[in-house]
Amino acid sequence: MSAEGLVILGATGSVGESTLAVVAENPGRFPLVALTARSDDARLFAQCVEHRPAFAVLVEEAAAARLEARLADAGLPTRVLAGVDALIEVVELPAVGRVMAAIVGAAGLLPTLAAARAGRQVLLANKESLVMAGHLLMEAVREGGGELVPIDSEHNAIFQCLPNGDGGAQGVRRLILTASGGPFLDTPLEQLSQVTPDQACAHPNWVMGRKISVDSATMMNKGLEIIEACWLFDMPPERVDVMIHPQSIVHSMVEYEDGSVLAELGAPDMRTPIAHALGWPQRIRSGAPWLDLVGTAPLDFRVADEARFPCLRLAREAARRGGTHPAVLNAANEEAVAAFLDGEVAFLDIARVVGAVLDTLPAEPVTSLEQVLAVDTAARAEARELIAALQGASA
Ligand code: NDP
Ligand code: MG
Repeated sequence: MSAEGLVILGATGSVGESTLAVVAENPGRFPLVALTARSDDARLFAQCVEHRPAFAVLVEEAAAARLEARLADAGLPTRVLAGVDALIEVVELPAVGRVMAAIVGAAGLLPTLAAARAGRQVLLANKESLVMAGHLLMEAVREGGGELVPIDSEHNAIFQCLPNGDGGAQGVRRLILTASGGPFLDTPLEQLSQVTPDQACAHPNWVMGRKISVDSATMMNKGLEIIEACWLFDMPPERVDVMIHPQSIVHSMVEYEDGSVLAELGAPDMRTPIAHALGWPQRIRSGAPWLDLVGTAPLDFRVADEARFPCLRLAREAARRGGTHPAVLNAANEEAVAAFLDGEVAFLDIARVVGAVLDTLPAEPVTSLEQVLAVDTAARAEARELIAALQGASA
């Protein structure tokens, strides 16, 4: 990596804010070239005041205009760029060495791909881009000559437990992703039809954005993570297992042929994987609390129940079929989760919508970015039709 500068895509989100906290723990070490967001100009303004990036990007033009006026009033030199293309423009600036990809959802795909193509070190939180277009993103990383360092706590743990930090490792029998099970791990099944968005977003261990919080409650998050692990570590889906571990202390494990199991442990705090990735191969301060194993014990492990969590089964099937099906899964899920958060459909409808869209659209081999984007559009349209029908049925 030639340049040192850091861009944080999705700076105003949960991962973005944790990244800024780690940057602040290590003064002078990670010069901020750009912070980006979609529309939250108030939050981005506060971040510009505190962290003084060279550029600030807002996708929404009106929000960008408001930010520009406030920065001028405050006499701050940060330059404001607006629009979706500006996300790509900033990752391509020559001063940039690292890009934290922390936009939520499919919107992260194009800027993450651009960062990979430009040879940046991509710190990947935006798992949706790997799920949609893993083949294209891994190819872009290879061709760009940069690297991909996982931020997702499970994948960062596995990265730390593999000999050279990356995939194709010799002698690996399987990867074991741990999962907290989310807020509904022990909720009686008959109550799941009634749960509200706020209950779904009340994760027992992690504080996260609302979309990934719902994904954790359905365990679609773990399903997306199976697909993410296959791409990152060059593993077939049948060698990526899931184990429920309600305390979220063991962040994932690698089982080797000789019977050794390596695990990474820590307090459930995203500042640890973020600091690991930012500092790698060195270790830097994160500001996360130290792990108190005695205070946390005992640690439990259980089998993941696919009857309780049908999204996990749907994701595993999509991983097995491959091709465009993970992109279909992701798009249908984003639409269904948004509809659930907006009060349009019930919690259990998320799996219904995703399953029905997967049954409707065929899995085709991935040939191009344009094809993936077209599949994403088609799956969303199909999902929205189903959501409208479900709303009609319940009205
Ligand atoms: P948040 O919802 O908290 O933040 C999302 C960020 O993306 C915000 O900065 C938001 O801007 C921006 N954004 C949203 N939509 C767009 C868009 N269309 N174009 C450009 N920017 C956009 O998400 P999280 O931080 O929780 O998650 C980010 C990613 O990291 C997700 O892919 C998630 O799966 C992954 N991840 C998150 C973890 C966590 O602990 N939160 C753990 C592991 C992975 P604005 O504020 O203006 O809306
Ligand atoms: Mg995770």
